Amino acid sequence: MELTLDSAVTQVKGLGPTRAALLAERGITTIGHLLSYLPFRYEDRIHFTRIAELVPGQPATVEAQVESSSLVRFAGRRNAMFHLRVKDATGQLHLKFFHSAYLNGKFKPGQTVVLHGKVTMDPNRPMRMEMINPEYELVEAGDASDSTEVGRIVPVYEAIGEISSRMLRRYIYFAIQNFRGEIPDPLAADVLRQYGFPSRRDAIFSVHFPAEDADVAALNEFRSPAQARMIFEEFFLYQLGIALRRQSEQRRAGIPMRVREETVREAVKKILPFKPTAAQKRVLAEIATDLERNTPMSRLLEGDVGSGKTIVALEAAAIAIENGYQVALMAPTEILAVQHYLSARRIFAPARYAVELLVSGMKWSEKTEALERIATGKANFVTGTHALIEEAVQFAKLGLVIIDEQHRFGVLQRKRLAEKGAAPHTLVMTATPIPRTLALTLYGDLDLSVIDEMPPGRTPVETQWREEKSLAGVWEFVRREIASGRQAYIIYPVVEESKQELKAATAEYERLSKNVFPQLRVGLLHGRMRSEEKDEIMEEFRAGKIQILVATTVVEVGVDVRNATVMVIEHADRFGLAQLHQLRGRIGRGAHKSYCILVAPQKVTEEARARLETLVATADGFKIAEEDLKLRGPGEFFGTRQHGDVAFQIAHPLRDHKLLDLARGEAFALAENAGRAAELEKLKRFLGSEWQSKFRLASVG
Ligand code: ADP
Ligand code: MG
Repeated sequence: MELTLDSAVTQVKGLGPTRAALLAERGITTIGHLLSYLPFRYEDRIHFTRIAELVPGQPATVEAQVESSSLVRFAGRRNAMFHLRVKDATGQLHLKFFHSAYLNGKFKPGQTVVLHGKVTMDPNRPMRMEMINPEYELVEAGDASDSTEVGRIVPVYEAIGEISSRMLRRYIYFAIQNFRGEIPDPLAADVLRQYGFPSRRDAIFSVHFPAEDADVAALNEFRSPAQARMIFEEFFLYQLGIALRRQSEQRRAGIPMRVREETVREAVKKILPFKPTAAQKRVLAEIATDLERNTPMSRLLEGDVGSGKTIVALEAAAIAIENGYQVALMAPTEILAVQHYLSARRIFAPARYAVELLVSGMKWSEKTEALERIATGKANFVTGTHALIEEAVQFAKLGLVIIDEQHRFGVLQRKRLAEKGAAPHTLVMTATPIPRTLALTLYGDLDLSVIDEMPPGRTPVETQWREEKSLAGVWEFVRREIASGRQAYIIYPVVEESKQELKAATAEYERLSKNVFPQLRVGLLHGRMRSEEKDEIMEEFRAGKIQILVATTVVEVGVDVRNATVMVIEHADRFGLAQLHQLRGRIGRGAHKSYCILVAPQKVTEEARARLETLVATADGFKIAEEDLKLRGPGEFFGTRQHGDVAFQIAHPLRDHKLLDLARGEAFALAENAGRAAELEKLKRFLGSEWQSKFRLASVG
């Protein structure tokens, strides 16, 4: 058998059409793809821990013989617990598998099994150690010389459907044993030498089957030289794509704007309703410098909730408008678009700019008129939702595009809006403050400005975790705050009652307004209401006519009502960390002290506990984003798995930020050095084929 990167996976011994189809669903059709499917964990199966030497609280890998097994069914419960007893030369070990009736009959006495898991003490039998739901693998005893299962450091793969880690290991082992092809290396020899990286071929082979003397701890932390090389490579190609895209963008002629002129400066000053913070000043200067250039600006403005990004954006808008251009501001929700519209009208009033709103819920006649004013250039500043990127919207002279809450839009939507002008400047804003390294990975084609300071006069929000049985006290507290003139939000995870037994906004609104706060003015806001209704409710809440707003997460982004000082979030354990932080950002916006009360049972999942405790402990959005990333991993964090924006096989921007920095440096050095054009051409061909799908976001557009 002579396998190459392009050989079909069906060439692998024992891999039939059914499993090939399963692999194909994951995009694995060739040996090359199969070799790119990397292990996520390694087990030392050379040095097993002997049962007598197990230490409670520590993970361990044990090789043992099956003694007996049994299935215990609990009365009235659907599932059962599977018990397994094994032994080695030094002692006995008990294993428990929850909800695992299917394991019954799988283990025969005398079989050799490898178990990996955390050792714990049996709570019911003092001094007896056990493992709960360990990973297990039945192995063939005897000749270990060519085994993929014992006598070596063994890779563990994420199963693909019914294809277990063990099967994948065998397939990949077979592929490597029979591999006779080339594995081209995208990294230059210089780079390999400089960082002491192995070649791609060596790296791939030893990432799957590490040498006997490899450091297992390093492997499990993804610090082995082979892994470092694979991680570097992923970042390098991704960043190269970004560097090239950026170059092609910067070759386009942009719109150089006058910034320093007296009239422009005056106009910007005139609209400033307050003294900007030092961070706001610095960031505005960065933006202004971009606007003066004759290449289009692409800048990301990061800042925690409430740090004052909007006013900076409006100042940038004023510069563009003074230069005779139109500005478009796109927001992810209608509520937010309306709010931007209202504050733009207020702030731009002294300058007499014409402000326009465009959302899908508008009456047809209103919309036609708005479109007309946008197309003729009468409208200076247009804010709206996705409605802005509809075909019918045409600008007379679009000079600046602003995207609020970037993470809610895809790159394509950002581009669609920019395409309504001739190379306009682009400013994207995000309230999910992410660490710099991560911003470089995800938005590497954007320059980064950070507002790292809050406007003065904020009092920190006090956050508490309460159980549902304390709700009466919570409502009493809400009543007191309202009696002293403040307003409150009460947040629910769903709009309507559902099977999940979550309290729903509509039903709770009925109950709260009738039974709990009969004397107070309570309003309801959720995503399924008509636009006019939503506007009306928000307007009444802003004006203080509604004292308690019962809502779903529609208030999550941007809503700015300074007099609101209390937020009660029911079922707080059901929300994500970033989401809770965004929600909490709605309060603590004025001079009065604010309180966020998270209502959730004391007994929640470990992850939910981590989220709630983080929120109680800190209000720093950067810290929270970092914690969120740790809990969820970058793919989930950005919801990018579905979008396929960033699909790293092995690299993890947060964990591997040092490699990211190095790789970015190398990638940009290559892209920007005209003397290395030939090298670059070769790589572009690389990027063009297989790599393009992998790094779609960064692909050379
Ligand atoms: P975000 O960054 O979340 O978009 P906003 O721009 O909505 O924040 O600002 C939050 C609030 O802070 C707004 O009410 C805004 O008017 C106010 N604000 C912004 N900058 C300042 C400042 N320099 N001084 C005082 N208040 C400010
Ligand atoms: Mg905002």
